[in-house]
Amino acid sequence: MEFDVITLFPHMFDPVFNCSVMGRAREKDLFKLRIYNLRDFTENRHKTVDDYPFGGGRGMVLKPDPIWNSVESICNNFKTEKSKIILMSPMGKVFNHTMAMELSQLDQMILICGHYEGVDERVREYLVDDEISIGDYILSGGELPAMVIIESIVRLIPGVLPEESVKTDSFYSSILSFPQYTRPGNFKGYEVPQVLISGHHEAVRKWRRTKAIERTLVCRPDLLNNLELTDEDKKIIVEINERQVLN
Ligand code: SAH
Repeated sequence: MEFDVITLFPHMFDPVFNCSVMGRAREKDLFKLRIYNLRDFTENRHKTVDDYPFGGGRGMVLKPDPIWNSVESICNNFKTEKSKIILMSPMGKVFNHTMAMELSQLDQMILICGHYEGVDERVREYLVDDEISIGDYILSGGELPAMVIIESIVRLIPGVLPEESVKTDSFYSSILSFPQYTRPGNFKGYEVPQVLISGHHEAVRKWRRTKAIERTLVCRPDLLNNLELTDEDKKIIVEINERQVLN
């Protein structure tokens, strides 16, 4: 998977993609990340990337020409078959795990980071394939959204993380993750559930499934609509409901 990011602040990406899971995946060449400074694609002497909005108003708008030039240059050099040009935008579709899974099937993503008041509308209308938002709030720029999107997709690339840990993460199969504990077994008098130190693998598996379903029912019941319940899951839900009635 290859990511081409167009931004006014290329250095923002260094810390995130040079350490931890992302840094290791990059070293192993499991994904490619190319960052472009929008200023390098200007055609004016002052390398101006923004201008005042037509019609008046406060704030600056990113000009269409440098963005167009940068996308064209990327497409000429690197465009692959399964590729998408995506604008980071508060009015885009709100990002989630399902979208991360879908996008992970592409070969390449070109991500455009807006800044200031945003980008000239013609970029939205005529250049990009999609717009993605990371939630209903406003950030100063598209850099953090782009990093969020790239990181969540890279985690899904085979080899980046152990398969089992990705599959038990929240949302992978429309269910939240089960609770995790580590040493010490007794911390300030709070004990780790006995079953986890019992050594009974089947009991641990059943406990984890029960807890995952239970916390999804409490915190995110909407997710369960998309979960294909096994016979065991249905029994677990009946047990949880009976327990609640008894309490
Ligand atoms: N004036 C615009 C906000 C511009 S914020 C408005 O009211 O809609 C500047 C840039 O930051 C945007 O162009 C976009 O690229 C990015 N951005 C801000 N919040 C975002 C969000 N929630 N999701 C994705 N991108 C966002």
